[in-house]
Amino acid sequence: MKRRCNQCHGDMIEDCLVNVQGGMYGLTIIKKMGLLKSVSAKPKASVCPNCGYVALYIEDASEFNK
Ligand SMILES: [Zn+2]
Repeated sequence: MKRRCNQCHGDMIEDCLVNVQGGMYGLTIIKKMGLLKSVSAKPKASVCPNCGYVALYIEDASEFNK
């Protein structure tokens, strides 16, 4: 399934890495599942080459639906 830009509806370039400027580490998305359990994932980014819009996404998003 191709991602479409929210702004101009063009095709987006997927699989881009997310990095925090000045640090060596990217972002991590964490969902708490109780006291000790949590699920986490590193988001990737998709970029629209037409207008520059950037969207974050997670590949195994179904893990968060438990
Ligand atoms: Zn766009």
